[in-house]
Amino acid sequence: MGTITLGTTVTKAPADYVSEVLNLVRTKNPEELEFHQAVQEVLDTLSPVLAKHPEYQKARLLERFVEPERVVMFRVPWADDDGHVQVNRGFRIEMSSAIGPYKGGLRFHPTVNLGILKFLAFEQVLKNSLTTLPMGGGKGGSDFDPKGKSDEEVMRFCQSFMSELFRHIGPNTDVPAGDIGVGGREIGFLFGQYKRLANQFTGVLTGKGPGWGGSLIRPEATGYGCVYFALEMLKSRKDTLEGKLCVVSGSGNVSQYTAEKLLDFNAKVVGMSDSNGVIHDPEGISREKLAWLMQLKNEKRGRIKEYADKFKSAKYIPMNSLMEFNPLWAIQCDCAFPSATQNEINAKDAATLLMNGCKLVAEGANMPSTLDATRMFLQAGILYGPAKAANAGGVATSGLEMVQNSIRLNWSREEVDDRLHKIMIAIHKNAYDTAEKYGKPGNLVYGANIAGFLKVADAMLDQGLV
Ligand code: NAP
Repeated sequence: MGTITLGTTVTKAPADYVSEVLNLVRTKNPEELEFHQAVQEVLDTLSPVLAKHPEYQKARLLERFVEPERVVMFRVPWADDDGHVQVNRGFRIEMSSAIGPYKGGLRFHPTVNLGILKFLAFEQVLKNSLTTLPMGGGKGGSDFDPKGKSDEEVMRFCQSFMSELFRHIGPNTDVPAGDIGVGGREIGFLFGQYKRLANQFTGVLTGKGPGWGGSLIRPEATGYGCVYFALEMLKSRKDTLEGKLCVVSGSGNVSQYTAEKLLDFNAKVVGMSDSNGVIHDPEGISREKLAWLMQLKNEKRGRIKEYADKFKSAKYIPMNSLMEFNPLWAIQCDCAFPSATQNEINAKDAATLLMNGCKLVAEGANMPSTLDATRMFLQAGILYGPAKAANAGGVATSGLEMVQNSIRLNWSREEVDDRLHKIMIAIHKNAYDTAEKYGKPGNLVYGANIAGFLKVADAMLDQGLV
């Protein structure tokens, strides 16, 4: 396409344009702190791009980029097992459809609010762009807490949630998936209700069961992909995972499969956690112990403390919200895989990790490092894999699930895993090469942000003012 000349003349230096848009985001969305953080982390790296492409400022691209195309917010009434009426809030943020249908997970957690989902949707746009697949960005969820609820309660909630959501989504419009608190069980209930209301069996959700349209390897994909990405980072310094001491936060979907893949590459996982506490197992979490932990978390829905009760080699360290640090990051490690939630590594945690000799951080969770922690990792020159690149394997495999649904075929485990591995290699190469091209060699934050942004920005220019 030729250069589009919509808009007014460029009047501001790139850095001033960035500050102006950041101020606008803060003023227009005063309560949404996580959204401010995610936008700042990206916009702070875009000045070199804006300098090369004055047409972006001319078309007011950044202002359009930080404004969701659509936000849907709705009431979700449901009845608990005692017959009491409960009311939750549901959301879907349709952030950008510049390069494909909106795509991104649903999160069910009591902390969910508009600002958190907007940060996640904003990140998702760039992440999906990096996957090489044609997917726009979205995110949604509810402040519903599945913890401690019966299967029947979760089903009634999911059915009520989908009764509203179904009119906003579709295989060519918006394709949600899982995230925190939304796993195979929830996707099943959501899909069932969608199918009933729409009277269509379509690929409207990903993360489906393998017997009814799901892709093999999708449950494993985010964790496996994050480890593949870490391998590429290590390779750039002629290193491997062999014998590395690793710590993985959380013990949910991403954490479990990160730990599993680390074992495949002969690394030793010595710490994991949940929202109540940390386990430190200096002997390492073996395959047998991991299988036990997966059963504890996925079937019994128990707490990680029970791991230390069962395996005497492990110590349990309780956590609470008043603590100013996360004891998991005080466990000595070579590689850290934050895989639980946002802002779980603050400046104090980053200092501890660096002091203990940590050489690599690969982010399985979304925005797990605060802005200060990120700066410290970059300044220290360790290998730092930002979330939108390192954890893109999940949504990439969701993209592969959409392809399989469209052609009505199922690929083998090996085929999907091989495609996932190649995608993670390509994402690393793209971020690495882009960082170098824009004068920040080795800085994958710059590389991932700029590479992800360019594709979306050019698509927006091509499509005019929409
Ligand atoms: P999950 O299966 O629900 O597991 C989440 C884990 O993190 C649990 O161990 C949970 O502990 C812990 N956790 C959640 N909120 C926490 C909090 N506020 N403080 C401390 N610990 C907390 O979720 P998941 O799918 O693995 O997602 C984990 C992270 O990966 C999220 O940031 C998500 O956005 C990101 N991610 C997921 C995917 C995916 O495919 N699922 C893809 C890309 C990125 P409790 O059990 O105690 O709550």
